[in-house]
Amino acid sequence: MSKPAANQKKEIVVLGAGVIGLTTALKIQEEKGPEYQVTIIAETFPTDPRTIKYTSFWAGAQQIATRQDQDDNMRRMERESFDVVWAMSEPDGSGAAEECLLRCMDYTYYTLPEEEEHPCAFMPDASFSPISSNSFRQLRADELIPGAVQGFRFTTVTFDIPRYLLYLLARFTTAGGNIVHGTVHHIQQVLEGGAGLFSNSLHEPSSPDVVVVCVGLGARFLGGIEDKDVFPIRGQTVLLRAPWIKHMPVLNDSEDDAMPSYVIPRKGGDVIVGGTFHPNDWYPKPRPEITERILAKGLKLCPELAPPEIRAQREPTVDDLLPLIVDMGVGFRPHRTGGVRVGIEWMESFSSPIKKTTANKVPVVFNYGHGANGYQASWGSATIALKYVQEALNDRDLSGK
Ligand SMILES: Cc1cc2nc3c(=O)[nH]c(=O)nc-3n(C[C@H](O)[C@H](O)[C@H](O)COP(=O)(O)OP(=O)(O)OC[C@H]3O[C@@H](n4cnc5c(N)ncnc54)[C@H](O)[C@@H]3O)c2cc1C
Repeated sequence: MSKPAANQKKEIVVLGAGVIGLTTALKIQEEKGPEYQVTIIAETFPTDPRTIKYTSFWAGAQQIATRQDQDDNMRRMERESFDVVWAMSEPDGSGAAEECLLRCMDYTYYTLPEEEEHPCAFMPDASFSPISSNSFRQLRADELIPGAVQGFRFTTVTFDIPRYLLYLLARFTTAGGNIVHGTVHHIQQVLEGGAGLFSNSLHEPSSPDVVVVCVGLGARFLGGIEDKDVFPIRGQTVLLRAPWIKHMPVLNDSEDDAMPSYVIPRKGGDVIVGGTFHPNDWYPKPRPEITERILAKGLKLCPELAPPEIRAQREPTVDDLLPLIVDMGVGFRPHRTGGVRVGIEWMESFSSPIKKTTANKVPVVFNYGHGANGYQASWGSATIALKYVQEALNDRDLSGK
């Protein structure tokens, strides 16, 4: 199959349809639609049954920021993402994704004082907030919960995961993007056959102009990539129906790092209560004893989880939360030693030994390994990936490759 003529659109294949693949594909398709045609190939899309192999189904998720002493690259991506998500969550019909995003007040508590400036100090005033016009501030001693020595509050955004993923997918296809179901066993399959290899209806198999790899934890297993620096950090959560919760308390307990306690309300009225943070724990189902512990810790952190009519009569107990349970979840955060991989490599596409065709080098852009931060870094990460795609295509045009 010959390459498309110069006046045809450049074929961009994005591998993966989690929050990273969808956001990246959407950004490329919307910003470069007249020149590029983007197709997502993925084993799982947001419209499919939920599976442990698709982490984005299982996130909280909140838009916060990584600590200053950690990953600068990640912090830049988060900062850009915050601005995008904040604008999308503009209330009263102004925000593009208002129905998927909830602006709410985060109360983060610490059992050991933080020495750095708080990473969320940049978050904007919340003029809509009934609490105060100046959103970010350190909590007073009388506002701390038992056991906490320090605390901050700031207004940020939470993602209603099922709604938000469907929103991204719909926005991508509306912009002209294609989707194809497929399990890729080796990157060579895509380098040589592109999206056409996985769909009869699109076009004949042919080598795409650029491949963007957004496969999350799948990067550990995908042939030709097999990045063993990528490993899971297991997170277990409980989903409750509690539409009366409109704030987001979080406890960072230095004595119990592996079980941070948090309550994340979603726009639709469900609330995620978490959770766990266990590296290299591959168990894919909820452990009942952990569920009980999550609920007990969640209720201690946020007694308001119990229905208001029960709290009006007596002290609530964990049993009062049981009728509110909608679901229990486990997800594998795709963590990567050394940080997220956003970069590019030109990979040789296999050339047929029979036809003796010359080897073709295809630019492969990587965008995976976002660990616990995939949502909050998604837009900034997509911007960097798009930059690599454009640079690769410019280089190719200049060199006539
Ligand atoms: C309990 C929990 C709480 C979290 N809370 C937050 C939070 O508050 N804020 C935040 O920002 N993040 C949070 N995260 C992290 C966030 O969920 C992840 O960083 C993010 O979902 C990773 O997205 P992804 O697109 O890289 O991977 P995934 O969502 O796993 O998507 C991978 C995609 O690649 C496809 N794929 C993989 N391999 C192949 C293959 N060989 N062939 C074809 N397709 C393939 C899959 O089908 C899928 O479509 C949380 C995670 C968990 C588990």
